[in-house]
Amino acid sequence: MYSDNKLLRRPYPYTDESLVGYIARLADSNYYSSPDYILRVSALTKTERHANIFYPQFDSLCLLSHITGVSEKTLWSMAFSSVTLGKAKFFYATLVQAFGENIPVRFIRKQGPRLCPVCLQLSPYYRQIWHLHSVTGCPFHKCFLIEKCPNCHQPIQFFRANLLKCKCGFDLRNSSITTISAEQFALSYQISLLCQVPDIDSVNYSNEIQYLENLEASNRDKLSGYNYDLFEGLIAKDTIISDYVFFPLLELHTLLAWSLTQNDANQDVM
Ligand SMILES: [Zn+2]
Ligand SMILES: [Zn+2]
Repeated sequence: MYSDNKLLRRPYPYTDESLVGYIARLADSNYYSSPDYILRVSALTKTERHANIFYPQFDSLCLLSHITGVSEKTLWSMAFSSVTLGKAKFFYATLVQAFGENIPVRFIRKQGPRLCPVCLQLSPYYRQIWHLHSVTGCPFHKCFLIEKCPNCHQPIQFFRANLLKCKCGFDLRNSSITTISAEQFALSYQISLLCQVPDIDSVNYSNEIQYLENLEASNRDKLSGYNYDLFEGLIAKDTIISDYVFFPLLELHTLLAWSLTQNDANQDVM
């Protein structure tokens, strides 16, 4: 029986921490050999967890809330929760709620975590935004996110013993970084703004952002008449990533313009 067992160490989540990353951090803090134990006592399966997708219709975060002392509401806010439309009972999500919006699940990266080694060095937790396909760089450190261990070249995984180390023992905080282009910086910055990443306002940006704003303005007109399905069709299907693969810029701009349109629509309703 686990019902009365709270975890010995219960670090509080960061506001922009992903739930699966938090589960991995809990396992690490409590010296478990993998997050499997936390999932088991929380009665959660591994399915799609590495993408931070959870299902309100199937998953309960009640036990996780109990062993951590963190409210279920807070835990759900860290997850990308699947949105049920009508009476659909498909197990796999097509829409998830993320960053206060319902977004197509294709925006969410399913290949496993990416991370900024410098962010991890400064504060060792997994940011929700790193789960987005379109976020390929860190606007704070102007570097690419990494998705493979520089030592053993294997994809980074959540389900391992140590949050900061690869299975081979390499400390991921020591990964060397590659500087991103002005466009990639502008995109990562803009997406971070849309997703309200904490402290993003403190990032200095220059004229690079103007480039993006010009493209956004032209895309906004094109998009306004598009229906949702068409928009979803614009987004590339999950790609097997061999190295750094980027969404074509047009699709990223489309995503940004779409998000802005949605925000405008929400404000109109209020
Ligand atoms: Zn960073
Ligand atoms: Zn490794």
